[in-house]
Amino acid sequence: MTDPFRALMIVDQDGKPKAEFRELTIADLPDYDVLVEIAYSTLNYKDGLAVSGKGRIARRLPMVAGIDMAGTVVESRSPDWKPGDKVVANGWGMSETEWGAYSLYQRVKPEWLIRLPEAFDIKATMAIGTAGYTAALCVDALEDWGRIAAKDLPVLVTGAAGGVGSTAISLLSAKGYEVTASTGRPDTHDYLKSLGASGFIDRSSLTEKGKPLDKERFAGAVDTVGSTTLANVLAQTAYGGAVAACGLAGGMDLPATVAPHILRGVALIGIDSVMAPLAKRERAWKTLADHLDKAHLDRIARVEPLSDLPKLAEEIVAGRIRGRVVIDVK
Ligand code: NDP
Repeated sequence: MTDPFRALMIVDQDGKPKAEFRELTIADLPDYDVLVEIAYSTLNYKDGLAVSGKGRIARRLPMVAGIDMAGTVVESRSPDWKPGDKVVANGWGMSETEWGAYSLYQRVKPEWLIRLPEAFDIKATMAIGTAGYTAALCVDALEDWGRIAAKDLPVLVTGAAGGVGSTAISLLSAKGYEVTASTGRPDTHDYLKSLGASGFIDRSSLTEKGKPLDKERFAGAVDTVGSTTLANVLAQTAYGGAVAACGLAGGMDLPATVAPHILRGVALIGIDSVMAPLAKRERAWKTLADHLDKAHLDRIARVEPLSDLPKLAEEIVAGRIRGRVVIDVK
C-alpha cells in the first residue's frame, strides 16, 4: 500500500480545468476515517463534463474525479466499518468538493458508504451506479405521487438510451408499466425494446417549443433532458400526473408555463442523487434489488479501463454512449 497508484485528476491549466493522470500515494489522500480499495467506478454524464472540461464540476483543484465507487474497506477508524467490508458510495460531492473514485484508493467519510446490496456483486453495483440509482429515485418518486398506478396511459422516459433512461425503462417495465421511450437514436430501438419499452417517440418531437397544454399522453415521466423537452413533457402529462426531473442533457433552462400545474394538477418532482438522505438511497437500492432484471443489466453495461476515460468523457457529453460504462480502476 506504500506504492504509488494512478488517479485521474482535474488540474488547473492556465485557469481552465484539465484532466490528467497523476501518481498518488495513500499519504496524499484526505484524512477521512475509511480507506477504500476501489475496484470499479463508472462514467456518468457529470463525469463526462468533469473529465472533458466541458463543465466546471470540480470546485477546487486538483480534484480526483469520479462520482461512483465500489470496493473493499482496507482501514477504518469508524466503528461502522471494518477491513474486508464491501461498500458502495455515490455522490456526496465526490469530484466536486471531495476527492472521488478514479483512483485505486480513496479515503471517505463513513456516512457516505452503504453496504454492498446482497442482490449485486461489486461490478453490478457500478453497472447501476449513480445513473441507475437515480433512475430508481425517479421511479420511487413517481410511485409515491401515485398517478401512474392507474396504468391507463404510458410512462415516458426521455434520454432513453442513456444510463438513467435505460435503467428507468427496465425498472418501470418490470413493475408492469407501459413505457414509451424518447430517443434521438432510432438504432437503439431494438435495445430499448429488449429492456421493456413498447412505444417510441423521436426526441426531435419534444425539442421544438410546443403548446402550454397539449394532448394528455402520459401518466408520468422520467426526464433526463430538461429545457424545451421537459416543458413539452409537462404539457403532455395527464391530469394529476407527475414528471420526475433529474437531468439537463438538453439544457439547464425550463421554458415552460404554469398551465400544466394549475390546470391539470401536474407535479414537477425534482430528483437529486448527490445529497439524497440515507433512507432514500436505501429504498432506491432495494427497488433496484427487487426489480432490476440482471440480464438487462448485462445488456445495459460494459467495462472499460481507466486509461480510456478521456475519450469516453467526450463520447458521453456528445450523447454517443449507450447505457452504462463501468470503469475498471486497476
Ligand atoms: P447519458 O449521457 O448516458 O444519457 C443522456 C441521454 O440524453 C443521451 O443518451 C441521449 O439519449 C439524450 N441526449 C443527449 N444530448 C441531448 C440533447 N442535446 N437533447 C436531447 N436529448 C439529449 O447521461 P446519464 O444517463 O448519466 O444522465 C442523464 C442526465 O441526468 C444528465 O443530464 C445527468 O447530469 C443527469 N443526472 C442527474 C442526477 C441527479 O442527481 N439529479 C444523477 C444522474 C444523472 P438518446 O440518444 O436516447 O436521445
